[in-house]
Parts: sequence; structure tokens; C-alpha cells
Amino acid sequence: MPRALFASDLHLCASRPAQAARFFELLARAPGRVDAVYLLGDLVEFWPGDDDDDVLHRQLVQALRSLTLAGVDLAVMTGNRDFLMQSRFAGETGAELLPDYHRVELAGVATLLTHGDLLCTRDVQYLQFRETVRAPARQAQFLGLPLEERRRIANATRAGTQQSMSAKDDYIMDAEETEVMRVMRQQGVRRLIHGHTHRPAIHQFDLDGAPGERVVLGDWYEGDLVYLCEPSANRLVSAETLLSLWS
Ligand code: MN
Repeated sequence: MPRALFASDLHLCASRPAQAARFFELLARAPGRVDAVYLLGDLVEFWPGDDDDDVLHRQLVQALRSLTLAGVDLAVMTGNRDFLMQSRFAGETGAELLPDYHRVELAGVATLLTHGDLLCTRDVQYLQFRETVRAPARQAQFLGLPLEERRRIANATRAGTQQSMSAKDDYIMDAEETEVMRVMRQQGVRRLIHGHTHRPAIHQFDLDGAPGERVVLGDWYEGDLVYLCEPSANRLVSAETLLSLWS
């Protein structure tokens, strides 16, 4: 994998047009600059199903389609906001949909990709909710509802989630260290890349006597930090900076 770009937690939404425009511009300039783009979940604020006719979401599909048509490999892992992205979305964009954990070789380092919510094992309430809404029968039932009804339910659920999040201690919603180590050992990797927590950082630590690294991608509410892997270096960099470098 010579050059790859990783991003997550864009939470694209019509009410934040600047973020969407910046992301689409980044995708438009990516061909020739990177060989692969990995989107690790929560691309949009809410994805009600692949039949969605929302204007911004159709623009997103088009932007991703243009990226893959230009020869860039695109892999999409879903998060808690967009886990209903399925095969039609993959077909329309040319993306490969990745499972919750996916292993890649990145500049010779075995690297594990994940959205990040599964690492937050202290948030038992959320993990139970996750299991409930992802049950196949429940999903099929939800996708059978009219689009407007799906959007209405999602808005109501989000309002409830925001309330429960503000009542939770901060540490509950962060990745849990022993779970991070457990998953890295189990998958035999030295690097983990994830988003979800909105706490961008590169954590370096000892993993069984050798260096381990956890890269946390940024959200696009406050900033726009993406992870760029080039033969020369790997770094967290702001999308805005990249756009000026790629002009
Ligand atoms: Mn998330």
C-alpha cells in the first residue's frame, strides 16, 4: 500500500455545508495523490438506507463514485450513524464495504482498522443498544418503513442519545486500554487506526515488549484531522492543510 488516506467521523449534514464542500474537494484532488482512501465510519449524521434521496447524500455517492472511477481504491467501514450502508451503496460508489475489524499491511506494519465504538467497552448501555438495532430482523423491519418515518425515528433516537451522552462520564465514552491491547494481540497487529471517540491523537506504547501504536482520527465537527500514509511518513494532518498542499 504505497499511499493511503484515512478519515472518519465526518458526520456530513446539510447544516454544515463547509465540511461537506471540503471533503468533496479532498476526494476530487485525491486521484494521483493517494492510491487508496479508507473511510472508517460515521461519514454522515444518519444514513436511513441505500434508497435515501437526500440531496447531500446523493452528492456524497457521486463524489465517491468519481473517486473510484478515477482509479482510487475506496474502502468503507460503517460506524454507528451509517451502519445501514449496504450493497447498493457499495455498488453505486464502487466502494468495498469492510467488516467491523479489517487488517491491512501499512508500510510493512500489520495494522488493524475499526470504527472504534467496539473498543469503548465501558459503555455497556451503548453496546447493548448497538446489538439491538443491528439484529437482522430489526434492520429489515426498519428498512421496510417509509424514508420519512426512518428519518423521524433517527432524529428522536439521536435526541435521546445526546441526553444520555451528556449524563455519562467522559472516560466511559473513550476506548478502553485493555480492550485495545486484547484486540491488537488477537489480530497480531502493532498498529490500530480508529475514529468514533473524537479524540484525535497518536498513542505510542509498549505491546508485549515491542512498540505499539494507536492512531485516533479526528471528527469534522471541530476540526478535520485525517491520517495520511506516504512512503516518506505517516501523519495526522488537517484536511484544510492537505488541500493547500494538493492545490
Ligand atoms: Mn461513531
